[in-house]
Amino acid sequence: MTTAPDILAVAEDALLVQKRRITRDEALALAHLPADDLDALCDLAHRVRLAWVGPDVELESLVNVKSGACPEDCTFCGQSSRYDAGAAVYPVLDPDTVLEAARATEANGVAQFCFVAAERAPSPSAFPRLLELIRTVRAETNLDIGCSLGLVTDEQAAALAAAGVRCFNHNLETCRELFPSVCTTHTYDDRVATARAVKAAGLELCCGGIVGIGETVEQRVALAFELAALEPHEVPVNFLNPRPGTPLGDRPPLDARAALQTIALFRLILPDVWLRIAGGRELVLGELQDKAMLAGANGLIVGNYLTTTGRPAETDLAMLETLGMPVAGPSGAHVSRSV
Ligand code: SF4
Repeated sequence: MTTAPDILAVAEDALLVQKRRITRDEALALAHLPADDLDALCDLAHRVRLAWVGPDVELESLVNVKSGACPEDCTFCGQSSRYDAGAAVYPVLDPDTVLEAARATEANGVAQFCFVAAERAPSPSAFPRLLELIRTVRAETNLDIGCSLGLVTDEQAAALAAAGVRCFNHNLETCRELFPSVCTTHTYDDRVATARAVKAAGLELCCGGIVGIGETVEQRVALAFELAALEPHEVPVNFLNPRPGTPLGDRPPLDARAALQTIALFRLILPDVWLRIAGGRELVLGELQDKAMLAGANGLIVGNYLTTTGRPAETDLAMLETLGMPVAGPSGAHVSRSV
């Protein structure tokens, strides 16, 4: 019989000695380790993170540049027009408001600034205004610009790259098997097509998902492998923060130990990405934020999320200082990838 130490030793040998990625069977064996082995799993994930991508932590702030009234029906989302979740509804923000948010981000020592719009896809009227906002922030700050604007075409991805966007976020949200029960207004393959358009345009792909929506641990592993197949630069992991009024509004938050296990498994399956813990982390991890940074994560969304409030940026900066983890600067100051 294969024991827990054997399973961990196989993964350690693969990732730290052979410098190869683990197989799905190896990942599933890690996912099924007894609860008592969680600390050992997290410790291995942390050592893999240090060996593959180094000690730096990348910070990012979001600006919800167009909020609410999204026509899509993602069951976890408070910004869908299908649900009465009370999210703010407003059109594309004016340049002064966006610049103020960008300057506050820069003043906090955060290098990444992501424009997020609640949309199925950028509308013909909104897209030129979004491009103009991006150019303005590029001209007025040294921030690295990210975007999350829904489904985009090859042409829109190319226009965003030309405007100076570095990174485009489009999450798979969940694994292919579960996706149809999470969203019916667009398909998993629509999301994959946007991820591919982003890469084809030369943008960095930020692609992750949300956990705690009723998926099994095997489906979390499936999501991680499906993400790996897209070769993302960055993988955000969101934890469901149940929004009253949405179909998942009554679901209990994920257990903190399951959240740590997810982070560790994602690092072991995706050893070379920026693994960013994102929405819902305060709710799910509580005082264990530092444990997540010692379980393979090397990125954080700081400040507020799209429809929920995060903890102050200073709290996260103080935590990273205590952990001895340097904050990555704008592009050009990234950690070197050692493998
Ligand atoms: S997750 Fe995005 S696409 Fe889905 S409802 Fe929310 S804003 Fe719309």
